[in-house]
Amino acid sequence: MFSLKGKRAIVTGAGSGIGQSTAIAFAKQGANVSVLEINLEAANETVEKIRINGGQAEASECDVTDHDQVQEVFDKLGADHGGLDCLINNAGIAHVGNILNTDEKDFDRVMNVNLKGVFNCLKGGVRQMVKSGGGAIVNIASTVATMAINDRLAYSTSKGGVLAMTYSVAKDHLPDKIRCNAIQPGRIHTPFVDGFIAENYPENQEEIFRKLSDYQPLGRMGKPEEVAAMAVFLCSDEASFITGSPFAVDGGTLYVR
Ligand code: NAP
Repeated sequence: MFSLKGKRAIVTGAGSGIGQSTAIAFAKQGANVSVLEINLEAANETVEKIRINGGQAEASECDVTDHDQVQEVFDKLGADHGGLDCLINNAGIAHVGNILNTDEKDFDRVMNVNLKGVFNCLKGGVRQMVKSGGGAIVNIASTVATMAINDRLAYSTSKGGVLAMTYSVAKDHLPDKIRCNAIQPGRIHTPFVDGFIAENYPENQEEIFRKLSDYQPLGRMGKPEEVAAMAVFLCSDEASFITGSPFAVDGGTLYVR
């Protein structure tokens, strides 16, 4: 079960955290993984980790906010591999702020990476999947796409948009045999969280780490591999009856308060 043998996959933002774990998990299940990253060095590190264990992967430098670059990269990868079967839209950035203290510039930056980046990659990915006769897409949203926490105005807005795009793509591309689902991770321990704590709470990092861990009803942060496992399932043939659905991987945050 859950084999991805022979599937051609693209994972964005796969040089770190959830994206890196997802790329590694996909390769372990037999997929040929294209690691897309704004930072080529980080992408190469992921590829190295995969190849050392006998997996198939290659790195491509790609800024998901750059519409034309994204289309070029997806077209090239589609041509090189003869199509595309799986796309994981994972690249994203954090932001802290409410409506009064979020600058227009910061709002635009967050929307550009987290929402327009997904739009750009969906456009490139769906085009390839239509040619391939179908595929499976997983968009990494967040619990805050559907619940409120303090000071995440721009971030939550972007992730709510990711969920809405998930439903639209799932509906529009039913006839193309493309399934599109989303994952709503709760707090997952990655460089994204460490960076967020260091930047926003430099004075009391340990205390904040504990507080953020305790917030999840299961009493800890998730691991990137736990999100990757859900992405593997959603792209496997075992998930062939699932489309247009959000899946929480959140230690009980959304429904077990
Ligand atoms: P991470 O460790 O910071 O990884 C994100 C990766 O995306 C980084 O390698 C980053 O590169 C890359 N990236 C950023 N901007 C990019 C761009 N414009 N084009 C291409 N790549 C870009 O973060 P993570 O925690 O694994 O998060 C991954 C996803 O999960 C994000 O969408 C995030 O919103 C979502 N999520 C995370 C959590 C959590 O608690 N960790 C919870 C819910 C949802 P650089 O490092 O070079 O910027």
